[in-house]
Amino acid sequence: MHSFLLAFSLKCFIPFDMMKIIEKAKKEHSLSRDELIYLLKDNTCDEYLFNAADEVRQKFVGDEIHLRALIEFSNICKNNCCYCGLRRDNKNIERYRIDEDTIFKLAEHAVKNLGLKTVVLQSGEDMFFTTDKLCRIIRKIKTLDTALTLSIGEKTLEEYKAYHQAGADRFLLRIETTNRELYEKYDPGMSWENRAECLKNIGISGLEIGSGCLVGLPGQTIESYADDILFFKQIKADMIGIGPFIPHKDTPLKDAKGGTLQTALKVMALTRLLLPDINIPATTAMETLEPNGQTKALQSGANVIMPNVTLTQYRKHYELYPGKSSTNYSPDDSLREVREKIASLGRTIGKGYGSHQK
Ligand code: SAH
Ligand code: SF4
Repeated sequence: MHSFLLAFSLKCFIPFDMMKIIEKAKKEHSLSRDELIYLLKDNTCDEYLFNAADEVRQKFVGDEIHLRALIEFSNICKNNCCYCGLRRDNKNIERYRIDEDTIFKLAEHAVKNLGLKTVVLQSGEDMFFTTDKLCRIIRKIKTLDTALTLSIGEKTLEEYKAYHQAGADRFLLRIETTNRELYEKYDPGMSWENRAECLKNIGISGLEIGSGCLVGLPGQTIESYADDILFFKQIKADMIGIGPFIPHKDTPLKDAKGGTLQTALKVMALTRLLLPDINIPATTAMETLEPNGQTKALQSGANVIMPNVTLTQYRKHYELYPGKSSTNYSPDDSLREVREKIASLGRTIGKGYGSHQK
């Protein structure tokens, strides 16, 4: 193996020690903080890293790509995250809530007509949707043949337990960044400790733990990305979404530079190496940054896509960041595009619910 590595390294001018670290990660699924930083700092071995993540993805979760039907059911939010277009101080968006019957109909269409096996309900932190209302919606959607994921922000342990008891399977709550100071600067009034506690409680409640981070917030560093990846491992995440930060004109971070696809892909690929069997989406933000961003992600460790099945009339108002890819397409159009992408990669669409197989 070493002579092969040496030959490859000489041919492609990749530092030998970097290749050794990547090979080690492929076998042992563990790296030190320093090793992660070393790989994140230098871009000479990016293609080698992406290929390694693709191989590990293939070995542990196979060629199936799981589709999740995303329903953005409310853009009303009590929080004021400095990076997000839905923040409460943004007066330039039209706020909406989709009523319970329509949410169910969208889920039903996704499951029965489009054949999707997971419904994801996402929203701002909208207090109108009380635990009772949410549990009613969850119970109704769970009469369909589908897994159900929630992405609705910070809740109490009791609330997470209630969602699980009503039938919800998974919960997405990105830590956004493990740099506490930065988190609290950009998420005014929120506490990093509480967010981390929520992730713990999601696990205790029996829900699968989904988390992730942004890449490219002003002040985020290579070191903090290394910490993010180690944090995902520490919390035993079942799924991790990595999104490049895309500045929104109606937020305090409007003049920021934003994240790059390359760095987001690197953080994602390293996450795949260290958590080999989890679910990792090719995020919409990646596709928004570059037209083939999602394809690149699917070839660098990702195994999930979340097609948007929210009605077009609402979708345009759910602008977490500008240019959210395929905002103008109908649910059926978004799905057709996704199916074509998967076929062109020679991969297949997941037939089961696509839960984390530990
Ligand atoms: N309110 C819930 C879910 C909706 S926000 C929550 O905050 O958990 C979903 C995700 O959108 C956030 O976790 C954040 O990482 C991402 N997001 C928000 N603004 C963004 C931006 N400007 N660029 C890229 N991603 C963004
Ligand atoms: Fe609200 Fe989520 Fe946006 Fe923060 S990221 S403002 S919690 S929708």
